[in-house]
Amino acid sequence: MTKRRPTVFASLSAGRRTERLVLLAATTLFIGGLVCGFYRFNQNLATEYGDVSDASAYAAVHLEYALETRRQSVEMLAEQAAELMSGRYSLNLQPTLRLDPRPDHHGYVLGALPGFTKAELGQLSGEGPMPPADSPLAREMAMAIALTPLLKALEHRDADLPLIYYQSASGFAYVYPALGADTSGSQFYRRSDEQQAAYAKAAPQANPQRQTIWTRAAPDFEHKEQTATVSAPLYVADQFLGVISRDVKLATLVEALVLRKVPYSSLTVVNASGRNLLHPEQPKVSVDVLQRPPGTPVRAGKVSYTVYPLSQAGWFMVTITDHPAILLGAASDSLLLIGAIIASLLSVTLLVLLAGALRDNEKLSIQDGLTGLYNRRHFDIIAQREFGRSLRDQSWLGLAILDVDFFKKYNDHYGHQAGDQVLRSVSEALRQALQRATDGVFRVGGEEFAVLVPLEAPDQFDAVLERIVVGVRDLDIPHEKSDWPQLTVSVGGVAIGPGQPLSLDAAYSKADEALYQAKMTGRNRYVVAALAGDGKAPALSQHVVAEPIQGRQKS
Ligand code: GH3
Ligand code: MG
Ligand code: MG
Repeated sequence: MTKRRPTVFASLSAGRRTERLVLLAATTLFIGGLVCGFYRFNQNLATEYGDVSDASAYAAVHLEYALETRRQSVEMLAEQAAELMSGRYSLNLQPTLRLDPRPDHHGYVLGALPGFTKAELGQLSGEGPMPPADSPLAREMAMAIALTPLLKALEHRDADLPLIYYQSASGFAYVYPALGADTSGSQFYRRSDEQQAAYAKAAPQANPQRQTIWTRAAPDFEHKEQTATVSAPLYVADQFLGVISRDVKLATLVEALVLRKVPYSSLTVVNASGRNLLHPEQPKVSVDVLQRPPGTPVRAGKVSYTVYPLSQAGWFMVTITDHPAILLGAASDSLLLIGAIIASLLSVTLLVLLAGALRDNEKLSIQDGLTGLYNRRHFDIIAQREFGRSLRDQSWLGLAILDVDFFKKYNDHYGHQAGDQVLRSVSEALRQALQRATDGVFRVGGEEFAVLVPLEAPDQFDAVLERIVVGVRDLDIPHEKSDWPQLTVSVGGVAIGPGQPLSLDAAYSKADEALYQAKMTGRNRYVVAALAGDGKAPALSQHVVAEPIQGRQKS
């Protein structure tokens, strides 16, 4: 019959298995954590860039719309001006128009106008001879001044509007609001102003299609903020009269539009060649980048550009994103996960250490320090367990006690340390003699050992005990003070069988008696008793191996 029996080693190997499992779990968790962390980080980065694109797209749509309304405002002014010049409306300002000569500028400025304060009107200045009050030029001036209510309304409405003005092809300009009393310097109209980009680009030569034109940014009159200019040419019955323009403070306009903050980014406007219109001192954005699909972030060194074309002016709104900052942002969002991974790793590591410590502790509590065999304490537990099992199973259990012969003399003659070494060697011989997983070897006293062996039949025990006696003798350790030439052991064994009524302690005493008998009959031998019964009285049979198997007793 082959029954699976737990071994005395079971608890220890289970401990090691647990530790390995825990280590495996820790490694898996660590790798899993890394993969999850990396995945989460990438997800966050994509989300952050998604937010940048969304907020930018939102701003771009608004910017496009704002530019469109600025364009429409100058077109509306041009239409109004054309109506006023058509002759169907009387311009009753014309007769009262009074010009003051400015010989220092070879020209003139608008003087006082009845019913108006100076601050209510824009500023008119011109080069050349003063036109008579009933001339077409005076009529054109009256028209420009008549636009004032509209100019005022626009100026009130838009914080991004510094100046709005009409430049006549006939040599004067009307600027709203008035730039102040001083018209001596750069603010006085000159013919050469017509060479300036905004006028020149809208005038017939450069603009035969009579389109409304956006001109790229320049610092405004007060040199404070970069402005762009949108200009519409004024035609009356196919005759070109002049150009109506308004400046736009670009940064103010963009700022007003960014209702939703674009994370990690700043917004700007560039023209088709990549020049930054808000901050011209900044490096150009490469044309290559401008040609990428709209709304896709493009990395360039430490920044990413997200570009949206502004079809109005042929410009681009560009979101400049701080790439390292967004990386940091994405990483800090994954910090919670990374923290959790580190915390769980720490606890798993602590568990492993704890499991190891517990295992060491358990080992120490059941192991003998000198020989590494199980100790007396463990013997008591295992003997009880195996004894109970043999009773239940009606099977045979071999219990033997063995004792080193003349060990006191050995110690006295060879020294205590040599004695310790002998105990270790004897332990090794016992291990060699009992190699089955179900066999147990214990050190139960100073130079006393115990053996537990499950048996199929009582007579099997003889062979086991003989292996022990021979095994120790074969160590061939010289022992001058022994009756035998080398170190030997004596063994008392009892084969505990079915139906015997004794307790474990009583069975142990039988083994001890057998040992005593082995000692008394000359040592270097085993005495074995078999214990069975009818459940009431034990039947004890005993035999002595009186004749040593090898070696000769000294006389
Ligand atoms: P016997 O053949 O009748 O067993 O004689 P013995 O001398 O072996 O028996 P005794 O019980 O008189 O002596 C046992 C000796 O074992 C006494 C003690 O010094 C020694 N001893 C016990 N434990 C240890 C140990 O851990 N190391 C060493 N070196 N000696 C030990
Ligand atoms: Mg002894
Ligand atoms: Mg002894």
